[in-house]
Amino acid sequence: MCGIFGVYGQPNAAAITHLGLYSLQHRGQESAGIVSVDGNHIARGSRKMGLVSEGLSAQEMESMPGVLAIGHTRYSTAGSSTLDNAQPVLARFKGGHVALAHNGNITNATEIRDDLEEAGSIFASTMDSEVVVHRLARSRSTEPEQMLAEALDGVEGAYCLVVIIGETLLAARDPHGFRPLVIGTLGDGYVVASETCALDIVGATLMREVMPGEIVAMDSRGLRSSQVFPQSKPLARCVFEHVYFARPDSYVFSGSVDRARRALGRQLAREQPAPTADLVFAVPDSSNAAALGYAEESRLPLELALIRNHYIGRTFIQPTQSGRDAKVKVKYNAVKEVLVGKSVVMVDDSIVRGTTTRGLVSLIRAAGAREVHMRVSSPPITGPCYYGIDTPNREELIAHTHTLEGIAKQIGVDSLGYLSLQGMLHAVPGGPQGFCHACFSGDYPTAAPLVDLMRAGKDC
Ligand code: 5GP
Ligand code: SF4
Ligand code: MG
Repeated sequence: MCGIFGVYGQPNAAAITHLGLYSLQHRGQESAGIVSVDGNHIARGSRKMGLVSEGLSAQEMESMPGVLAIGHTRYSTAGSSTLDNAQPVLARFKGGHVALAHNGNITNATEIRDDLEEAGSIFASTMDSEVVVHRLARSRSTEPEQMLAEALDGVEGAYCLVVIIGETLLAARDPHGFRPLVIGTLGDGYVVASETCALDIVGATLMREVMPGEIVAMDSRGLRSSQVFPQSKPLARCVFEHVYFARPDSYVFSGSVDRARRALGRQLAREQPAPTADLVFAVPDSSNAAALGYAEESRLPLELALIRNHYIGRTFIQPTQSGRDAKVKVKYNAVKEVLVGKSVVMVDDSIVRGTTTRGLVSLIRAAGAREVHMRVSSPPITGPCYYGIDTPNREELIAHTHTLEGIAKQIGVDSLGYLSLQGMLHAVPGGPQGFCHACFSGDYPTAAPLVDLMRAGKDC
């Protein structure tokens, strides 16, 4: 998963992008980068490992003038977390420049890359996104949107892109519409972002979504839209954006994430009640809204039973105490006052490997809870994602290797209840049709990648 952002037509576009990236930090913490273009057509890039606040400074933005900029926050996968793979990609060719930032995963990147290498291309990274840059370089068109349309022809899988070609900002979304992308206005200019919360922070006004299969071009000639891949693919918006990824203050796929999560929580309470429970609590922060929905529907009090430490960096020193729950203990603590002697419902948005959950349950028990009833506001995750989410191999997914009873035993709860697939799809705004739910259902909207994704630098 990644966050992308772009600005056209505002002075200090790099500084605006810098601010926007702070609001997209939750979509990727591995690296952050910005490319800007100044009035003399000079493109400058800065890409750093780590958080936006660690790598990019307001001071540095002052040395990146211009009305055109794009930015990226990256959530990498194991093995490909290097500066070479940080974005935006910036390349110079035919006397011009092109810069690109990508959210998603191109499922046929390896095949395209093999073809390009066969024809003489030399790659600088292992990222799937770089194939688009090479194809842009080969285009014979002079219109930026035509160049991008040609470059994307035959590209499969998930992509939301912000691209700079010359003096033009482009935004593109794949025909399935896997990932969210919106356009806003800011003064006389435009802002493009993965989520609306990034428009809010820079004071932009939401205009609309970039539509699936659409390329939008923004430059001195104004805003132009082209539907380059008209309704050629079934709509497959990632339902996990509503469940876990996006921020609750965002609208994704034109729906409120907060409302989606509350509805998921309410539906979960209807499907999976916990008759003996005294109270409900969330695993903060991602399941706060779902727990609120569960508590409302079940008329149980919502308590703050788990406290999360927000100041633990991505790389903290391994705790000295041994045991499988040590990592969890560094990040969370339980509130004894709330839990002693109580039968509790612990709401979380998802269980992936089950390791965090198991640690949390043992914390809750150690704090004195009498019964622990786990409720999950999405169905069991049984398969990998090919569309930009770093889900582990199938074998590491606890719901692939264990039955419901097996998972309950493994994580140490008195009862376990997941939301049903239909319950989830009916709860999200704009559902039940038009969503990808492959990691839950096995119903993949595209062919699975033919070769190992890691070779192509499985990206965000
Ligand atoms: P597990 O018990 O499977 O180890 O962890 C479950 C927790 O991981 C849940 O709180 C859920 O919010 C969180 N989670 C779900 N998907 C992802 C993901 O893609 N990345 C990260 N970092 N956490 C996730
Ligand atoms: Fe989203 Fe799951 Fe589909 Fe991936 S497989 S796009 S995480 S719903
Ligand atoms: Mg969580």
